[in-house]
Parts: sequence; structure tokens; C-alpha cells
Amino acid sequence: PIRVRFAPSPTGPLHIGGVRTALFNYLFAKKTKGVFFLRIEDTDQTRFVPGAEAYIMEALEWLGIAPDETIGKNEKFGPYRQSDRKDLYVQYAQQLIDSDWAYYAFDTPESLDFHRKQHEAEGKTFIYNHHNREKLDTSLVISAEETAKRIANGEHYVIRFKTPVDETLHLKDIIRGEVKFETNLLDDKVLFKSDGMPTYHLANIVDDYLMETTHVIRGEEWLPSMPLHVLLYKAFEWEAPEFAHLPLILKPVGNGKLSKRDGDKLGFPVFPLEWKTEEGVSSGYREKGFFPETVVNFLALLGWNDGTEQELFSLEELVEKFDLSRVHKAGAKFDPEKNKWFNHQYLIKQNDADLAKSFASILEEKGISTALDLTKIVSLIKERAHFVSEFWDLSDYFFQAPITYDEKARKNWKEETPALMQELISVLEEISDFTSLNIETIVKDWMTKNEIGMGKVMQPFRLSLVGALKGPHLFDIVELIGKEETIQRIEKAIA
Ligand code: GLU
Repeated sequence: PIRVRFAPSPTGPLHIGGVRTALFNYLFAKKTKGVFFLRIEDTDQTRFVPGAEAYIMEALEWLGIAPDETIGKNEKFGPYRQSDRKDLYVQYAQQLIDSDWAYYAFDTPESLDFHRKQHEAEGKTFIYNHHNREKLDTSLVISAEETAKRIANGEHYVIRFKTPVDETLHLKDIIRGEVKFETNLLDDKVLFKSDGMPTYHLANIVDDYLMETTHVIRGEEWLPSMPLHVLLYKAFEWEAPEFAHLPLILKPVGNGKLSKRDGDKLGFPVFPLEWKTEEGVSSGYREKGFFPETVVNFLALLGWNDGTEQELFSLEELVEKFDLSRVHKAGAKFDPEKNKWFNHQYLIKQNDADLAKSFASILEEKGISTALDLTKIVSLIKERAHFVSEFWDLSDYFFQAPITYDEKARKNWKEETPALMQELISVLEEISDFTSLNIETIVKDWMTKNEIGMGKVMQPFRLSLVGALKGPHLFDIVELIGKEETIQRIEKAIA
């Protein structure tokens, strides 16, 4: 069966790009009736951030794309946290030493730094590999006995991969097709350190093998690691999984990768959930009032489409239509304005009673108690909103008479307006079935019979009730606030 994984490092809150990676893995797994698992890659203890792991799990849960297997859930190939698998990697590092696919190196950080700087000064790229090593410093090349002695002496070492010389690798990526790499341009990456911890590269390959990963779907930033990973599978004599490197997510304006700074500058979150630290709070899509369906939908379209003009997809639909071969390799522009439009689309689809419930808690926070039908109010205003948080500004006049009136509209009042409004009050007072359509019919009849122009009544009428020339159908407002309140507001406006 197909098995794919999302393998984040818990170095902070999950970036929206990471969420897109998780989503594409999820969609691919569900589409192929495979398994989607979450593995926490925390071998780099210096970058470990407490709370990040729980954050990642909560974010996936909120989005409705929780893994089938992970820490504490169907641990078929557990543990799913690399620090809990620590002891397992030593033997694999040893295996590579034994088969001459890896070697011990004792370089000090100072010496590596020295060589790097010297290369830079000469305008050359510093490539650290075993055949360059001798050229760099002959003292690095030591016998097996010497190596053993130094290890026994407790000297710091690393185990490095021994990249083959003079090979051109033709590798296959599902999204990019054939990708070529020259092995002479690759560094001999560190696989294992004397503190007993493997690096990302070793742990990642060992675990993908042991956890029977069939496809590695991850961000483009990992493409340069692909040759090393493929060579590692070869060194272990394991069959490599297939690879798919997802396109970058680009800034809304300008060029380059989307960063937190873009979000801060343009006022949109780059995290699914809010993230609090001592330095401050980073906003999240959830707290901003985005629906999980919205986030799933706009992320799915960052690098994928179904070949039609369709933009709105539910998660179920995505599962049905998703296809890795339709993911493109060009970077995908992040469009925060469009994301709001998506949220509007999901807002109007929500059940009015549910929206009313969310609105009720906003009203409660504002200390406003009301007997009005919130479900009805929500149904009248949601067409104009992107977020539930906008409901109050769109509907405050339902709950309180206007305190001020739009000046421009007020200036248009004619001399006869107060008298007309007084007549309107008498008309309204006579209506017993106080429902929108009935009120509208009676008021319009009165206008026609007396040859009163529409605008002459309707504008000051609206202004009296709303305070501005905005809002939904006027007679719906009239019905909702009721006869008494309507009349009081007109009286106040003409007083
Ligand atoms: N731990 C890596 C990360 O943080 C995983 C990369 C991969 O999927 O291989 O993104």
C-alpha cells in the first residue's frame, strides 16, 4: 500500500508552506487509499522548541487532515518521534562505515571555517568531500588505527557520507521529471555525531525505510538533498521511494519565497494557529476567523489545479480530484486578498444558526443583550462579510438606534421631509401584520396613491433607521426591529 509521511522538525510553529506539504501528502494518501503518517524529526536538539510538536498536531487536527499514524495513534512502526528512536541509528551509521560508504572525520569547526573563508576569498565554492580532503589538509587523512585511537581518546568526531566521485545522477521527480546532479559538486554531509545523534539525513532515510514510505512529498527546498538521499538508499541497498518536490510558495508582491515578514508587512498570518512566545504573538488563520475549509481550499490551489476553472473545492472533492501529476513546478504566488474571498465563499455556505451562535458570543463580549432573531440578522448581512468578526459593524443598527447620521445624506433632506416622515409613521401605525412584504406593499401603495416619489421617502426612512444609506433590504430591517422601534427611530431623526 502507498505510505506517505509529513516529517516536520519541531523548530517553531508550522509555517503555512509546511501545512501545504502536509495537505498534499494527506490528499495523495486518501486518494490512493494509502496511509498518511506524521513523524517528528527532532534530532537537532539545538533547534528544538517546546510546544511546537503539540502545535503541529493541533493544526492538522483543526484542518481536518490528521494523520492515520503518529505519536500515540496506531503506532504500527513507532516510535514516531526521532529522539525516541535515538538508539536505533548507531548500527546504520556503523553499517555504512563497514561498507566504506562513510568515514570518520575529526575536523574542528575552526579548520572548516578557515578553508571556507579561503575558498571564498579566491571566489571558489567550498566543497567538502573525501577526495578534496587530501588537497585541503593532508593531516586529515589518517589510518584506521589512528582513527580508532582518537575515538577511544574521546575526541569529537562526525561520520560523513562518502559521496562517489565523477558520477552524473539522473534522478526522477514526479513533478519535475528528470533532474541531473553531478556528484563532484556535492559535499560529504554529516550523518552522525559523536553526541550519539544522527543528523536529519541519516535519520530521515533510515526511518523512511523502516516505516515503509513509498513516496516522499516535500517542499522544493529539499530538492538539493535528493541526490544524497538516493545515494544513501543505494549505500544501504534499499529500494528508494519515489520523490515529489512541491513548488515554492511565493510572496504576494515581488519575488522570492513567502516569509513571515511579508505577513507582518501586509497584515496576514503565515501560521495556521496563533503562536505565543515571550517576544509576542504571531497571528494564526484560525484566530483571524478563517474556516479550516478555507485554508485547505486555498492551500490546495498553491501549485495544483484540476485543469478546469473551478476554484472552490471541499476536502472530499480534493481527495477525489487530487493528482500529483497535475502539480506544477513553477512557484505559486500567495494571494491574501483572494484568501479572504475564499473565506467569504465558505461563510455564506455556513448554516445561519451556527453563524448566529458565533455572533451571539461576540455580542455577549460587547455586553449587548438582545431579543432579536440573530439567525435572521445573520442571513441578511452575511452576503457582505468575509468574517464573522465583521458582523457587528455590518449590523450594529439592528441593536441600537443610530447616534449620528451620514452627513451627506442628511443634507439631502427637503423641507417637506419631516412632514412626510410623520405621515409615514401614521401609515406604519395602522399596519397589523408587521412583516416585511406586507409593510412594503402598504407603504408603496401609500406612496403611489399620493404620488410621492420613492426616493423622497425611502432615503430618509433608511437614514432614520440605519444612520447611513447602507444595509440590506429596508423592510426586512423594519420587520426585525419591530413597529415600536421603527417609529421611535423616525421620531428621533426628525426631532
Ligand atoms: N524534517 C524535514 C523538515 O523539517 C523533513 C524534510 C523531508 O520531508 O524529508 O522539513
